[in-house]
Amino acid sequence: MISFGPIPSRRLGKSLGINNIVSPKTCTYNCVYCQVGKTKRHTTEQDAFYLPEVVFREVEKHLRRLKPDNYPDYLTFVSNGEPTLDLNLGESITRLKTLGIPVAVITNASLLNREEVRSSLALADWVSVKVDAANEATWKKLNRPVAGLSFDDYWSGVYLFADEFFGTLCSESMLVRNYNDDAGHLKQLAGMVKELSPQTAYLSIPIRPPAEKHVGRPAAEQLNTAWQLFNSVGLNTELLTGFEGVDAGYTGNAFEDILNITAVHPLREDALLKLLENDQADESVLQSLLHQRLIDKVQYRDKIFYLRHYNATS
Ligand code: SF4
Repeated sequence: MISFGPIPSRRLGKSLGINNIVSPKTCTYNCVYCQVGKTKRHTTEQDAFYLPEVVFREVEKHLRRLKPDNYPDYLTFVSNGEPTLDLNLGESITRLKTLGIPVAVITNASLLNREEVRSSLALADWVSVKVDAANEATWKKLNRPVAGLSFDDYWSGVYLFADEFFGTLCSESMLVRNYNDDAGHLKQLAGMVKELSPQTAYLSIPIRPPAEKHVGRPAAEQLNTAWQLFNSVGLNTELLTGFEGVDAGYTGNAFEDILNITAVHPLREDALLKLLENDQADESVLQSLLHQRLIDKVQYRDKIFYLRHYNATS
């Protein structure tokens, strides 16, 4: 199946997924947390998987079957592996854009030191690049790149792409307990991501079964620290922890407002109290959210923050 969905996505609204990689899973990485299982073809060799006309025909057919109110906001390459391993990616994007729907690509960015890969990817309207590691040792442990890839080449490719790309660039960093979630590493990572000037830097955690069973989520304190460090260098930072949410300010429903905002970013205690006041609610709402373990209270430096509860031990 080449296309699937649309799937609701906080980042992209309604997103029609496109898998341009023929099975088995083919990737330059074999991330310990991968949610589509272990990499079967671990390679940097590009291949022509589907013909661009086949991808176009399938997506066009899929769109015709959708009801108007289910029409996607984006056509998104989210593959059974790494989408830039597809030699036809650029041509497929060009054809799909004639459908009048913006095209997004979610890439691990490992091949962006190749000029032809950058120019194909630059045809997309929205690109998310994976940036999990600030040093080679972490990169090798977490992303497990195929032999022959170099960490310095990967980063210089990402910087070049960020500089050349005219569309919307976002970054996504998956945080995994004891791999890349210590404050020293997160600080370094924030500095490196900052140089890419992404529209939004997303911080995610494993929410589906990972390739390796031992993989765990960071503790709430670590996720909060990551957000604070990214935010402190001026990055527009959002959490992706499996909850839909939007920072829509106050709507009159304090319970929902707090859940929505804390799904996107930690809420400082003074801001939360102000929100309760604006929503004409009292602190019993906060106590109820804490009691039901819907949000967690964490400390960062001398301030208290609240963020949406997720199970850090699963
Ligand atoms: S880059 Fe993506 S598809 Fe490849 S192993 Fe990592 S998470 Fe899985």
